[in-house]
Amino acid sequence: MANAAQVQRMSRLMIKTLRDDPADAETASHKLLVRAGYVRRSSAGIWTWLPLGKKVLENVSRVVREEMDAIGGQEVLLPALLPKEPYEASGRWEEYGDLLFRLKDRKGADYLLGPTHEEIFTLTVKDQCTSYKDLPVILYQIQTKYRDEARPRSGVLRGREFQMKDSYSFDTTDEGLAESYGLHRQAYQRIFERLGLDYRIVSAVSGAMGGSASEEFLAPAAAGEDTFVDCPECDYAANTEAVTAKVAPVDGSAVGEIEELDTPDTPTIEALAAHLGVPASATLKNLLVKVDGEIVAVGVPGDREVDMGKLGEHLAPAVVELVTAEDFVDRPELVRGYVGPQGLAGKAFRYIADPRIAAGTDWITGANKEGKHARNVVTGRDFEVDDYLDVVVVEPGDPCPNCGAGLRIDRAIEIGHIFQLGRKYADAFELDVLGQNGKPVRVTMGSYGIGVSRAVAALAEQTHDESGLCWPREIAPADVHVVAAGKAKQTELALEIGEQLGAAGVRVLVDDRAGVSPGVKFTDAELLGVPTIVVAGRRAAEGVVEVKDRRTGEREELTVEEAVARLSA
Ligand code: ATP
Ligand code: MG
Repeated sequence: MANAAQVQRMSRLMIKTLRDDPADAETASHKLLVRAGYVRRSSAGIWTWLPLGKKVLENVSRVVREEMDAIGGQEVLLPALLPKEPYEASGRWEEYGDLLFRLKDRKGADYLLGPTHEEIFTLTVKDQCTSYKDLPVILYQIQTKYRDEARPRSGVLRGREFQMKDSYSFDTTDEGLAESYGLHRQAYQRIFERLGLDYRIVSAVSGAMGGSASEEFLAPAAAGEDTFVDCPECDYAANTEAVTAKVAPVDGSAVGEIEELDTPDTPTIEALAAHLGVPASATLKNLLVKVDGEIVAVGVPGDREVDMGKLGEHLAPAVVELVTAEDFVDRPELVRGYVGPQGLAGKAFRYIADPRIAAGTDWITGANKEGKHARNVVTGRDFEVDDYLDVVVVEPGDPCPNCGAGLRIDRAIEIGHIFQLGRKYADAFELDVLGQNGKPVRVTMGSYGIGVSRAVAALAEQTHDESGLCWPREIAPADVHVVAAGKAKQTELALEIGEQLGAAGVRVLVDDRAGVSPGVKFTDAELLGVPTIVVAGRRAAEGVVEVKDRRTGEREELTVEEAVARLSA
């Protein structure tokens, strides 16, 4: 028989539900978690978890813990208050910029509140593991993280203080790392399935940087701050920044000679397209940028925008900046607004082009003369592309790189991230173990995060309805919410059902509050979102209760015996 479970009486529970949405709340999870008394704002982006909220948070943590243990993860707890030095050694003390909470101790030494713990885990393993025999190892913690987010909005979806499960794998070989990564991927799939989240796995970096080295777990939701593309026809899904168009070369041999066109006052694509009466997509736009100070031109079809984030990510760690008027001084070959790659690509600038500028395609582009454009400019004939990079903003309907169907763009919440880090931190901290041959081997690492508190909000976003929260059973603060409509007999029956269910191992919340109207109790039960609601009401004297499914609204009248048997099964 199951262990007895706690029966929580609402008359003794510290809970205050609200009828109105908090004034500053924009997202459903923010409104409902506050109104249902699960969380309260303490200060900007910092939240207090009240009794029912803490139960939900614990349930998420428990699922995460069980699945991390199942892949051989070992739970540890590292400090959140950390000295500056390791983060200085990795470069992140600076790189994090304003996101980092920095503070000083009484002696004036610098500290930070950990935003994520790669440095400290690396040092822990350096201290504990000396031989290849000590590896592989997967360490994890469920811990409070701190990030001074610019716009902490949306309640616990994006906090400045939040709960994260972070884990780190340590291996001696690339194959080992791939295996640890695969284990995490599976564990994450099991975790999000058990939590009842609808999610997609998307590659977080472009194919150019190496396939599955980093993937994000996204929960589709209107309140999400991430966008991703997915294919309605196949299983392709990717971060919008990671989409790489596949374009085949075409036969451009029939295209005539380059022709110069008089196009006065057409420095913009719109002006040019209007002047010539052609679609913007027939033109080639060349954006000039500086990459580590060197001029680079980026060619994209005239109807597309360059995604500076994507460009930056492709070229990292190089720094990408826009050109300014000064960059044109002493460079007469660069005619502002009329730049074309013909004659200049590979000479006056390195030429990066979008895959859509495939070999053989022909374009109308700048003629490198004030007020003039050129037509019949053919890729591979009139200019060469130094590097193909997909750097345009993805648009709905763009072809799927897998199957060619029109892609969709959707909003989502990032709930997890898995990442093959490689040797970056091991190099920074000289993390070696003795190899089989007695020589030191540099360790390779993976880093893996789940937003535990964010997952609570993501679940609320995906499962709520107009009446309130609607938890999946595994996560709910109780299995059954018993409402005593108000009369003494009804309360007596409600408590009795509560006792019986509790004894059978069912987690029960009994609304035995005196002086609260049945209407308020029913509204609260809907708002709190426990999956099954039992009402001891009209027919309580006959020993009959109503059993209602919170999600479907299906209701049934059952005797107490029937109800207890059904709900404890
Ligand atoms: P985001 O892009 O949303 O800021 P991130 O990519 O910076 O997140 P990671 O460093 O990958 O986040 O952290 C691992 C996980 O921690 C994320 O997948 C997310 O679920 C969670 N997380 C990150 N920042 C926050 C936050 N401010 N509040 C709540 N959860 C967060
Ligand atoms: Mg991330």
